[in-house]
Amino acid sequence: MPVHKTTFNRLGLTDRIVQTLKEQNYAFPTPIQEQAIPLLIKRNDLLGIAQTGTGKTAAFGLPILHHLSLEEKRPVAKSTRALILAPTRELAVQIGESLKVYGRDIPLRHTVIFGGVGQNSQVTSMRRGVDILVATPGRLLDLFNQKHIRFDFVNYFVLDEADRMLDMGFIHDVQKITSLLPTERQTLLFSATMPPGVIRLANKILHNPREVSVAPTATPVKTVEQKVIFIDREKKRSCLSKILQKSTFDRVIIFTRTKHKAGKLAEQLTKSGIKSESLHGDKSQSARQKALGLFKSGKVTVLVATDIASRGID
Ligand code: AMP
Repeated sequence: MPVHKTTFNRLGLTDRIVQTLKEQNYAFPTPIQEQAIPLLIKRNDLLGIAQTGTGKTAAFGLPILHHLSLEEKRPVAKSTRALILAPTRELAVQIGESLKVYGRDIPLRHTVIFGGVGQNSQVTSMRRGVDILVATPGRLLDLFNQKHIRFDFVNYFVLDEADRMLDMGFIHDVQKITSLLPTERQTLLFSATMPPGVIRLANKILHNPREVSVAPTATPVKTVEQKVIFIDREKKRSCLSKILQKSTFDRVIIFTRTKHKAGKLAEQLTKSGIKSESLHGDKSQSARQKALGLFKSGKVTVLVATDIASRGID
């Protein structure tokens, strides 16, 4: 993260949140945080043009925690005070994990719901209501239609990765959800890119938004050394095995273009003694979580993923 002069103290967040950030060793706000947090504390709607990796989760999460903790309201059954929509389960889970860290000293309830798994525990966690709900659109609407969730107490609404949301065909779900929310609310839309569909959606759901934009972090951090190897296709795999065997990598992520190749390569690497797991859209939710868990805990060193499946992985 680039070093900035402004400190979290000066962005207007509560002392408690600033203290938590200090304990997390967040020395300085990232550019998106520096720009967005003061605007959000002043309750502006926001159009944020930023990718994952820029610190955008804290940029929207911290002001929400700030407002909710000062309001001292209790959640109402089946409802939420803040709703964060994310396009994928992985991103939703990751946002939930970040909120847990940022809000660990604040007595607020939050939960994450997504499709591809049984709904019972999600229904149970919504029964008493929550302060913050992170959700993927499809399952959220399902639970709404079954009357397990109500939207009439939503004061804060975040649409994360709006471009991705549209790519994945969620536009109708998102429009439906938006139409169910109270009109009196603060709305934030984040997107890495601004195709016409996102602009139209932003115009529809944001009210006098302020705009903040940060350079894409596709520009890798300086500590990442990059190399290109030109090689015949048939030698690619043996070359990769050699690199992996020779070096002492902690964690390696390999990207493939297709789901099939991801699975096959992980299998081949494992056979050659390099413990690998694959992550792609054809795997069930539990298989994906298992693969990620093994990778995170270090039981598996190599993760082979399609770029789609790996979006939102920290
Ligand atoms: P995000 O773009 O929200 O996915 O955040 C990317 C990563 O940056 C996460 O691992 C965060 O924990 C981390 N991060 C966010 N804000 C800061 C900050 N101000 N200082 C240091 N790390 C941060």
